[in-house]
Amino acid sequence: MKFVRGRIDSIDFVSRRTRRIRISGPGLRGLDWVPGQQVRVLVGSGPGRGNRLPGPLRTYSVWDYDGGAVHLCVADHDGDDPGSLWARNASPGQEVMFTKPEGSFITRPAPYHVFAGEETAAIAIGPMLAALPPGTAAYAVIEVDTAEDRLPMPAAVTWCYRRGAAAASSPVLPASVAELDLPDEPGIAYVAGEARTVQAVRQHLVQDRGWQRRAIITKPFWAPGKKGMD
Ligand SMILES: Cc1cc2nc3c(=O)[nH]c(=O)nc-3n(C[C@H](O)[C@H](O)[C@H](O)COP(=O)(O)OP(=O)(O)OC[C@H]3O[C@@H](n4cnc5c(N)ncnc54)[C@H](O)[C@@H]3O)c2cc1C
Repeated sequence: MKFVRGRIDSIDFVSRRTRRIRISGPGLRGLDWVPGQQVRVLVGSGPGRGNRLPGPLRTYSVWDYDGGAVHLCVADHDGDDPGSLWARNASPGQEVMFTKPEGSFITRPAPYHVFAGEETAAIAIGPMLAALPPGTAAYAVIEVDTAEDRLPMPAAVTWCYRRGAAAASSPVLPASVAELDLPDEPGIAYVAGEARTVQAVRQHLVQDRGWQRRAIITKPFWAPGKKGMD
């Protein structure tokens, strides 16, 4: 596995529990990145996959890339798991190793676009929305716990709230997508976040709205009991 190396420049909060970590360095110049793509970060030390890596890997969507610095945003889910600990303990000057941006959770030509997901998915959806050509029809629904968990988004978003309920298998996001007043013809949907909730949103679009499964691009970011999905 090939890594690029950078150093943390700065860390701030983009919402109550989400840290933005800005990483820069000469090795980060000229990376190819399509909004929606992700990198895999070596977080902490300890046994890596098959012990061939110096530490565990966690996957993060690229929030922004300006040709020299990569911005990642990490939602703190309160666990003492490697990704959460890495972000919580990150400090300026610290070295970070990560893979080049990759992935197919990216927009494609469509009559209109629907985006749906929770806090972590918002980190992919924000730059995807920002990169749409002006005038493109887009509908975005993002589920967060409370209003303080909203991330700064580049376009109008319908926010829905769990208000303390679990993010796993959340009925809130599918219900909010079901309320969208969409055109009669299908568009393309991009659905990410917790695995079961992603499935429920897809099920709604297929069963209730008659969309083809191939018109729904899904990307599970995490699932209860699973570690470090990619
Ligand atoms: C393509 C892709 C893009 C991703 N992009 C981002 C991103 O931009 N920002 C980001 O923060 N995460 C993102 N993730 C999720 C990220 O890779 C980690 O899974 C997450 O940071 C948790 O890592 P961890 O080591 O703390 O916990 P893990 O060891 O991965 O998980 C341990 C347990 O914690 C719980 N858990 C994990 N994540 C959450 C959560 N968000 N809410 C509630 N409970 C949780 C689950 O029960 C899980 O079994 C992405 C994942 C994928 C696959």
